[in-house]
Amino acid sequence: MNQDDFFKKLTGHAKEYGFVFPSSEIYDGLSAVYDYGQNGVELKNNIRNYWWKAMVQHHENIVGIDAAIFMHPTTWKASGHVDAFNDPLVDNKDSKKRYRADVLVEEHVSKLEDKIAKEVEKARKRFGESFNEQQFVTTNARVLEISQQIEDAKRRLYGSMESGDMAAIKQLIEDLGIVCPISGTRNWTDVRQFNLMFSTQMGSTAEGASEIYLRPETAQGIFVNYLNVQKTGRMKIPFGIAQTGKAFRNEIVARQFIFRMREFEQMEMQFFVRPGEELEWFEYWKQQRLRWHLSLGIPASKYRFHDHEKLAHYANAAADIEFEFPFGFKELEGIHSRTDFDLGAHQKYSGKKIQYFDPELNQSYVPYVVETSIGLDRMFLAMLSNAYTEEKLEDGSERVVLKLPPVLAPVKAAILPLVAKDGLPEKAREIMEALKYDFYCQYEEKDSIGKRYRRHDAIGTPLCITVDHQTLEDNTVTLRDRDTMLQERIDIAALGSLIGQKLKPLRV
Ligand code: ATP
Repeated sequence: MNQDDFFKKLTGHAKEYGFVFPSSEIYDGLSAVYDYGQNGVELKNNIRNYWWKAMVQHHENIVGIDAAIFMHPTTWKASGHVDAFNDPLVDNKDSKKRYRADVLVEEHVSKLEDKIAKEVEKARKRFGESFNEQQFVTTNARVLEISQQIEDAKRRLYGSMESGDMAAIKQLIEDLGIVCPISGTRNWTDVRQFNLMFSTQMGSTAEGASEIYLRPETAQGIFVNYLNVQKTGRMKIPFGIAQTGKAFRNEIVARQFIFRMREFEQMEMQFFVRPGEELEWFEYWKQQRLRWHLSLGIPASKYRFHDHEKLAHYANAAADIEFEFPFGFKELEGIHSRTDFDLGAHQKYSGKKIQYFDPELNQSYVPYVVETSIGLDRMFLAMLSNAYTEEKLEDGSERVVLKLPPVLAPVKAAILPLVAKDGLPEKAREIMEALKYDFYCQYEEKDSIGKRYRRHDAIGTPLCITVDHQTLEDNTVTLRDRDTMLQERIDIAALGSLIGQKLKPLRV
């Protein structure tokens, strides 16, 4: 199955089984905005809880907050978002399609990188055992020429982005001969800066109203509460503040389902450290966050780090954790060493002293910050795309199964009387009563048992508990495993601990 087909199937499955719907679909939807359905909301809540537990409850020195979406407008002046939260935008006059100019250049660069990879593969085949890749890429004329083109393109792009020179970016697109993937032409408009923040009016009359923004990141809600939390929680550096919540960005191009949305949710943690120790903590959090991902039991080969060459105005180190989505490796989470930029800026703009007195050093300073920031919806997409599996069974039939990590699965166990008579429903309801306070279970008696198994495979329920006539005699049920489809007979009394066992994260 090619990637487009896979994506179509995934989107279709997400809709059919109540995971994700286009927003306000009866009015034909709203671009890059989505709603979560009955199973989607469970998966989303489970991801959020899994993150919250790991970040807040398992760390003695990290606490959580829930700041408002609306913030004083000066917040966004101080953070740099009013002046610098821009993407360069360009339109193709023939196709009328809009692009991020920097992404067009980056995609061109990655095509050049693919060319190098192909040259390397060709040479590897030609030279066989004796092939020395390092020597080849540093001496082969063709590879050197392409590497030079890559360097030049990056230098010009990042230089122009830094200085805000939109004309130079347009010139770069023209010099590289980049064509619109839809129209195939080079008929581009000028490149313009586009601020990604949504704004609205606060106040009941237009005259008295002031312009405020929908937050484009949750981080600033943490920074402006730094003093409150540090003082009331008597927090000692190093310590962290975490929060999850909605963020809004008027993205220029938002075409990949829930990968890039205009309204989305972030899970962020800001870790406050002594100046000079930030790079050690940056490394620590990179590893720590990767371990969190691996604890869900997904193969390590699906993840990789990408260290940033071009740093944001506030950072002195940055890396992404990339995940292998159906459309390639893409950013799932960012880890950023944000220096004292944010607290320093809020100190300046608010006129309030935002500092920490370090009793060990006997000195006050503006703490440095290491941030971990992951998109909840993007994590949802990562889990869904990784879980979606089509299987051919031995009897020739097919099934679609979501092999979600059990701890994230919307429903943990389905409780199914084999037939809806002979006292089996009553017995099954008893089991439901005993389990439902600890695990989200669903009771179902409609349709054949095979159909019910398939329905639960399709939403990723890890276990199906079937109540049959033997249950009435000896208090045992069959427990069916979603992935292996193996069934074993077990005592009802053992169900709770078996389900609990299944939901334990891996220790990595
Ligand atoms: P990108 O380069 O993909 O635009 P970013 O570097 O701007 O992302 P950050 O500002 O670092 O992203 O945000 C942290 C995380 O929030 C990202 O790793 C991603 O998971 C998530 N995120 C950012 N923008 C969006 C969006 N428009 N829709 C969904 N998730 C998003």
